[in-house]
Amino acid sequence: MTLRIGITLAALFSSALLAQAPAPAPAAAPAAPTHPPSAFVEPGVLPKNWMSGGPKCMEMPAWQVHEYNPNFFILRQSGCIHYEKPFLYLIFGKDKALLEDTGAGQIDTAPVVMSLVAKWARRNNKTGPVPLIVVHSHSHGDHTAGDAGFANLPNVQLVKATVPELQNAFGIKTWPTDIVPFDLGSRIVDLIPIPGHDVAGIALYDRQTGVMLTGDSFYPGRLYVGDAEFPTFVASHQRMVDFTKDKPVAHILGTHIEQTNTPFVDYPRGTVYQPEEHVLELTRGVLLELNDALIQLNGKLDRVVLRDVILSPRAPRP
Ligand SMILES: [Zn+2]
Repeated sequence: MTLRIGITLAALFSSALLAQAPAPAPAAAPAAPTHPPSAFVEPGVLPKNWMSGGPKCMEMPAWQVHEYNPNFFILRQSGCIHYEKPFLYLIFGKDKALLEDTGAGQIDTAPVVMSLVAKWARRNNKTGPVPLIVVHSHSHGDHTAGDAGFANLPNVQLVKATVPELQNAFGIKTWPTDIVPFDLGSRIVDLIPIPGHDVAGIALYDRQTGVMLTGDSFYPGRLYVGDAEFPTFVASHQRMVDFTKDKPVAHILGTHIEQTNTPFVDYPRGTVYQPEEHVLELTRGVLLELNDALIQLNGKLDRVVLRDVILSPRAPRP
């Protein structure tokens, strides 16, 4: 019995090694490293539960700030302010900070983020706050509502969530097939265009932690896509699968949680208080599971309920 287990483990181990064989690097951009994960992924801690909204809204802060590690912060907006309760991400390199998304509804996000940027600078003995670049997972209002607060701040570059602005700011020559590295100072984040849920959708892959941010295109909840955009969505999902095939993926983090912690079951749209919600993090296994489901649909959009995500056809927008 022991011998058989040993052989099985050995077989698994060697197939895992094969699965990590490096792929050819793209011509222009420096390729993300392909070391074994344990060699360089910087660790971090995710909470078991997030605040959602309530049950007593008067007691709830507008934001939950979570330090994943000293250079990677996750902010969740309270559901008491807006039921979408999105997640925002703030990542620090040696020279720059990057914020993804600015919140939903009536929210003044800039003071909270700028105070974190200032605190980080003090903690790292900088002479002043590092420059901040603000980007968006996509252009929808529940991810851009706090933009105005960043618009005229010194030391802040606000990149609007449009394809031309993204191309210009990050040097993306061919949208959406070019994947471009962005250097925050000894920390490279890869920008992967993923239109489909929205024309200006992007994913970000942080090489330092192996965390990939996927916005509303992939999170534990209802992934909305319209008929006309379905082929684009499928191609974008495949792009994420291909990109991650030779890289360590520690966590895939999106921008909402709508699933409950009962597999297959989601909260109704508009739920504020979600005491039994799914964890935020998804794995590459779920990414592959959805990719299989998308391929099986063979070009025809339909509702697909998987354990952790739900593909949700969206009525055409007026
Ligand atoms: Zn959203």
